[in-house]
Amino acid sequence: MHKEFLAFAKNIFGGSFIPLHRPVFEGNERQYLVDCIDSNFVSSVGAKVTEFEEKLAAFTGSKYAVATVNGTAALHVAIELAGVKPGDEVISQSLTFIATCNAISYAGAKPLFVDVDLDTMGLSPAALKRFLEQNAEKKVRGTYNKISGKKISACVPMHTFGFPCRIAEIAEICADWDIALIEDVAESLGSFVGNRHTGTFGSMATLSFNGNKLITTGGGGMIITNDSELAERAKYITTTAKVPHPYEFVHDEIGYNYRMPNLNAALGCAQMERLNEILAIKIKLANQLGEFFDQNDVRFVRAIDENKANHWLNTLVLDSREERDNFLKFTNDNGVMTRPIWTLMSKLPMYKECQTDGLENSLWLEDRVVNIPSSVPDGALKKLDK
Ligand SMILES: *Cc1c(COP(=O)(O)O)cnc(C)c1O
Repeated sequence: MHKEFLAFAKNIFGGSFIPLHRPVFEGNERQYLVDCIDSNFVSSVGAKVTEFEEKLAAFTGSKYAVATVNGTAALHVAIELAGVKPGDEVISQSLTFIATCNAISYAGAKPLFVDVDLDTMGLSPAALKRFLEQNAEKKVRGTYNKISGKKISACVPMHTFGFPCRIAEIAEICADWDIALIEDVAESLGSFVGNRHTGTFGSMATLSFNGNKLITTGGGGMIITNDSELAERAKYITTTAKVPHPYEFVHDEIGYNYRMPNLNAALGCAQMERLNEILAIKIKLANQLGEFFDQNDVRFVRAIDENKANHWLNTLVLDSREERDNFLKFTNDNGVMTRPIWTLMSKLPMYKECQTDGLENSLWLEDRVVNIPSSVPDGALKKLDK
């Protein structure tokens, strides 16, 4: 299959080197950047920030959106606003990007690692329920870990590579146990559970617009929520907690300098104008790739049930660690960028003492999952313009 895949990939993407995911700037990006510079509003106040927030809220079906400097900062603030206090514990996945766990740590909390489902690669509601029944007890002030004695104050599931996890079931379990739910939707802009956008099942969700994500602002993030009070708090705390006043500098708590600059938001506004087209192209590409791998008896990951994945990063599940290593070496040696899934968080020095449930599926996937090139092919957007 390796040689056939190489030929297939070169045919779709062209060029001598095929990256995993590159940004596309084929719309109004340049114009909006110039507008920004001409307006003198280049930092964290400006019309483009508000416009980008409104566009993102409308697209995801959220009432409010607050733009931040990056996705990690958005997660950090969301976790704190959800009521997580230093010393608390927060349930998440071991199979995720490091940012999820780092944000939990910035809030002074400790991650608890629960297994993922094999088909979605996202947090498993069955494993979550089992973990809580075995390890947690509900008290007047919330849910506590019977082993550590600590409060379990939040749960942060992640929609891996844009494939929606079983978030409706997770939301029910979190409600039953009185645990705040924050979705890490950094990878799932444009991914839906039925008609509902990922990130609309908990009290808040956070996005990322880093250069490798579906759309980019250079660096950037966003908190989305339907709660006006949380939205207001998020805006306040990411703007150094400055009390509004025409000229006095008064800050009434320790805030963060986490707001997205207008320059970055300008890029975001232009990218949002192409979002539906980017998604359509990526889904067409995924269908092509899926057909190829079906014919070659390789598991190509697809969304479950009636869900819709953005196919941010197309994903294969290979037969073994050995097969994975061979595939990675062959493709990368031949100018086609492929990557393994992350090393489990529970194996990293900072998180190896954290409590887990055994992580059977996470360990299995860690050995077998790879990402393959998933960019919008060169010129594909321009073709749509004609
Ligand atoms: C990209 C990403 C983030 C946020 O990353 P930033 O680079 O800080 O924008 C958070 N969680 C996951 C799962 C991600 O993939």
